[in-house]
Amino acid sequence: MNLYTTLQRLCAVPSVSGREEKIRAVLRERIEPLADEVRTDNLGNLIAVKKGSGVGKTVMLCAHMDEIGFLVTFLEDSGMIRIAPVGGIHFTATAFGSVISEKGVRGVLVPNAKTKAADYKADNFYIDIGAKNRKEAERKVAVGDFFVAEGGVRRLAGKRITGRPLDDRIGCAVLLAIAEELKAERLAGDVYYVFSVQEEVGCRGALPAAFGIQPDYSLCFDVTATGDTPDASVMACELGGGAAVKIKDSSVICHEEVVTRLCNLAEEKKIRYQREILTAGGTDTSSMQLAGGGSRAGALSIPCRYIHSGVETCDLGDAEACVALAAAFVKEL
Ligand SMILES: [Zn+2]
Repeated sequence: MNLYTTLQRLCAVPSVSGREEKIRAVLRERIEPLADEVRTDNLGNLIAVKKGSGVGKTVMLCAHMDEIGFLVTFLEDSGMIRIAPVGGIHFTATAFGSVISEKGVRGVLVPNAKTKAADYKADNFYIDIGAKNRKEAERKVAVGDFFVAEGGVRRLAGKRITGRPLDDRIGCAVLLAIAEELKAERLAGDVYYVFSVQEEVGCRGALPAAFGIQPDYSLCFDVTATGDTPDASVMACELGGGAAVKIKDSSVICHEEVVTRLCNLAEEKKIRYQREILTAGGTDTSSMQLAGGGSRAGALSIPCRYIHSGVETCDLGDAEACVALAAAFVKEL
């Protein structure tokens, strides 16, 4: 599987938290030939399983398929559309950008004319769809409609790519590549590939998914921050440094056995890796750790610069390292 081509396809589909139907359909088509069974649960999580011989441990691999966006709250007489954020919107990074609604209506997200950058927040922003007045706007947009910043991915130097929403379509692409790598393997335990909903609003989808699966081990695939840009907070994680083995983020302390296994395997198989401690931000890892009777949870993160902006930047080499390391982890179990 070509990760870049897969990402081009996945990033072109808008799927804000709570409205993941479109991306789920694309992912379902991709995962079906790589799994024994595929289903969608009540919350909307896409759950695929590759059956083992029934004697091994159950593993859950998870990446979230939702993305941050906006929700229409009010239509002004002028035709301008007021919004509320869905997930951790970074308004400075999203200002003056193109947005698209779930119905395909295009607009631009802009701040009120006199708003200073320091005061950027949802209340001071609106979407201009080009409507002359409320009546015209109402023909295209209703209160409760979801918008996202327009997606897409482009190549930079070497293996670097930029665009959105690499958070977390790159995790979804990694999951598909792992499934492809494990397809012909005869495994002892069941492997679940879960594309979760509503991570960006509080790691919600992965919780009931893990509760239903009751995995022994779980691994999350999501982006993480880096410390390698001018003036960035100190962090021992960089683009191109390999798969980031999570030790801790604000929502989880990863299981020691999982961390040790991943690091040892990376050394043994000569897969590039780095240790990750994310001081601000959580992932589905915590939901999988705590669901039901709990699981031995860890994460392989893909380092990403400028998270939640329109120019999220990753290195495909790091994603490839995550695929290789996760496949080795599952085979060893
Ligand atoms: Zn994410």
